[in-house]
Amino acid sequence: MPQQPLAQVPVDAQWYWQELGSCRDVDPLIFFHPQNERGSARIKRDRAAKQVCAGCTVRLECADYAVRAREPYGVWGGLSEDERERIYSRLDSRNYPRAKGDGLRVAERDIALAVSPRALGIA
Ligand code: SF4
Repeated sequence: MPQQPLAQVPVDAQWYWQELGSCRDVDPLIFFHPQNERGSARIKRDRAAKQVCAGCTVRLECADYAVRAREPYGVWGGLSEDERERIYSRLDSRNYPRAKGDGLRVAERDIALAVSPRALGIA
């Protein structure tokens, strides 16, 4: 997982879940796009990452953190960069969700759909 500027890290951020993530046993490169990756290559890599996230026991903690931290890069909690950008774009930056659980509250549907069969490319 990439380092974030401290200003973006929620003050109550906890990291225990990262020790439990399924991604610990997987090539981290599938979670982050290489420069200039486009089209089907990006879709394929994102889906591979999402499949790992779909079976991860700490997916909700990860997704909650990523939304609250406004993570710009990578697949987190099954949410791709584009999916998170859509979430960020509809949130009020003056009242941004920062408290633990607020990321889940404001993006519940997006987080559920992020690992749906359709999002994984199996339906
Ligand atoms: S949800 Fe995905 S990115 Fe987050 S800890 Fe689990 S496997 Fe890693």
